[in-house]
Amino acid sequence: MGSNGQTRRERAGVSRRAVLKTGAVTGAAAAGAAAMAGTAAAAPATAASGASGAGGSRPTAPDGDVILRNGAIHLMDGAGTVASVLAIRGGLVVYAGDSFGAAKQQFATAPQAIDLHGQMAVPGLIDCHNHFVLMGNRPGHHVPLENAYSIADVQAIYAARAATLPPSPNPPASADDFITTIGGFAAIQFKEVRLPTLAELDAAVPGHPVYISLGFTGPSVTNTLGKAFFENVAPPTGPVPVGADGSIAASPFLASGPTGQATLALRHTLTFDARKRGVRDAMAYAASVGVTTHLDQGAFQATDTPADGSAHEDNYTMHLPFLAVYGEGEQRDVEQAVEAAVRLRINWLLFDSDPSIPVATARIQNAFPFFGNDLVRTGAAGEFLADIFHYAGGNATWMNAALEAARAGWRAEVHSLTPADFQTEIAGFEAVNAQVPITGLRWVVAHVPFITPDYVARLKALGGGVNLTPYEYFNTANPGGPPYRMLVDSGIPVGLSSDGMQIAPMNPWIHAYYATTGLNALGSQINPGQQLTRAEVLDHYTRANGWFLGGQDEDLLGTLEVGRIGDVVVLSGDYFAVPDEDLKKLHSVLTVLGGRVVHSGGIRYWA
Ligand SMILES: [Zn+2]
Repeated sequence: MGSNGQTRRERAGVSRRAVLKTGAVTGAAAAGAAAMAGTAAAAPATAASGASGAGGSRPTAPDGDVILRNGAIHLMDGAGTVASVLAIRGGLVVYAGDSFGAAKQQFATAPQAIDLHGQMAVPGLIDCHNHFVLMGNRPGHHVPLENAYSIADVQAIYAARAATLPPSPNPPASADDFITTIGGFAAIQFKEVRLPTLAELDAAVPGHPVYISLGFTGPSVTNTLGKAFFENVAPPTGPVPVGADGSIAASPFLASGPTGQATLALRHTLTFDARKRGVRDAMAYAASVGVTTHLDQGAFQATDTPADGSAHEDNYTMHLPFLAVYGEGEQRDVEQAVEAAVRLRINWLLFDSDPSIPVATARIQNAFPFFGNDLVRTGAAGEFLADIFHYAGGNATWMNAALEAARAGWRAEVHSLTPADFQTEIAGFEAVNAQVPITGLRWVVAHVPFITPDYVARLKALGGGVNLTPYEYFNTANPGGPPYRMLVDSGIPVGLSSDGMQIAPMNPWIHAYYATTGLNALGSQINPGQQLTRAEVLDHYTRANGWFLGGQDEDLLGTLEVGRIGDVVVLSGDYFAVPDEDLKKLHSVLTVLGGRVVHSGGIRYWA
C-alpha cells in the first residue's frame, strides 16, 4: 500500500476498514463521487498535485498502485484496443496506452512497474454464476481436481497438498486432518475414466485421510486413514459403509446414503477457523485461474442430515467466513496477503415450499440488492425463487416469490436444466410481467441446454438474459448444449459462467475450450454447430458479463478503460494462438486486484 492511498483515504475522511465494514459508507461515498468520477479520473494528474487525491475521487478496495508495461493488454473496451502500458492508481485504471512516461506522470511517486515481456493480459474474468461460497465452506483441506487429466495428476496434486500439512493422527480426529475434493470434476476427465482407488490414494498420501466425492451426491472414495475415520463415525450419522477398495456409494439425490453420511460427518467437525481457511484457499485458486469476480448463486438449504449433498449449506451463515476474511484483509500487509484475493457478489437463493413464502418475504424485506463495497456486495434473487420441488415457473409458491421480487424491483435468476424448465419459467416471467413490469429488471434464466429460438425471443422481449454454463463438458449426451451460437446470434444478453463447484469446473479456460470446440472431457463432439469464437468467449467472460453483475459493478468491472477498477490477469499463453487442447491449461501468471498483486506463478490450489 503506497502513501498515495493513505493520503486519499484521509482526505475522504473514511478509513478503508470503515469502508470494508459498512457498506452504507461505501455506498454514500460512491454515490457522492459518481458525478465527479468521469471527469476527474480521466484528467491526467500532475506529479506535484498529490496524484491520488486529484485523480481517484472514488474510493475502492483494494486501492493499490502499479504500472504494467510491455504487455499485450486487451482492454475489452468493445473497440478491440490493445495497450502495452496500463497504470492503476488507488485501485482504478488511470492510464491505458503505449507510453510508460505518460503512465508515470499519473503518480506523485512512481509505483512498482512490472514488465510483462509481451505477455497477453485481460481484465480479471467475471464468473456470473457459480457456487464459490460452497467451495469456501468445504470440509477438509479442499483441493480442486478440475485440472487433473489422469490418476497420476490426482496423486501429484494430493501429494503436494499433504507435504504442506502436519501429520494426521491415526485414526483422524476431524475434517482438519483430511485432504478433500467435493464436486467440480468428473471421472471422464481422467484418462483412466474412473476414480482413484484406495491403494492409489494410499500410495500418494499415506499420512493423511482423503475424501474425493463426485458431483452432488457421489460416489466417493477414501484411503486407509479415511476409512478408519468414516467407519468409526458414531450414530446416527455413522458408521459410514466403505468398500475394501475405498469406495463410498452415492446417495440418491436429496435422500440419505453413504456419501451423504460421509460428507455430513466431515461437516460436523468443521470449525469457523477452518471455513475461513477454506475461503482463503478458494480465493487463491480462483485468482490463479484468473477469475477475480464471482457472483455466487447460493445453496440448497442444509437439513443437517445425510440427505444433504455437496450443494447444501446454511444460507444464513455460509457467508460469514467470507465476511470475516474480507474484514481481516485490512489488518495484514496487503503486499503479501492472499486475503481477499477476489471479489464476491451474493445472490440469495430463495427456497420456499409454502405458498405464503416466508423465506422470500423476509429476505426481500430485509436485504438490499447491490449493497456493500467493491470487494463484497449483494446481488439479488437467484438461482431459485422457490425450493427444488417448486422451482418450475407458474407454481403458486414460485409465482408468489417472483411477484414479491418484481414488486421490490429485484433482479431474479432461475435455472433451467430440462427441456421443460425454461418453458415454465419464461411463461412464469410473462405472467409476472402482466401484473408487475419486469422489463427493466434483467431477469435471467441460467444454463438453458435445451432452449429454443421462440422462447429466446419471448425472454428477450421481457428484457431478460441467459447465463450459460459448461457442465455438459462432463456429460456425453449429444447435442449437449447450450446452443451458444444461436443465443449469441439472437442478440439476447448472454453471460458466460461456470456453475462450479458441484457439477462443473470453475476454471474459465475449460469453459472456453468447451464453448469454442463443442468437445466434452472425453474429446467427443457433443454440441455440433454451436461454437463461439475465442474473441466472443473472452468478451462474454469480461465486458458482457457486466450486464449480469448489474448495479455499480457494470460501470466498474469487466474492462480496463480509464476510470474502471484495475483487475488484471496476465495469461500463461496467448489465448488467441494456443492450440485447442492447450486452451484448457491456460491460467494466470500474475493477477492484479485493484492494483494489488494477489497471485503470481502457476495454478495455486491453496493459499
Ligand atoms: Zn448454479
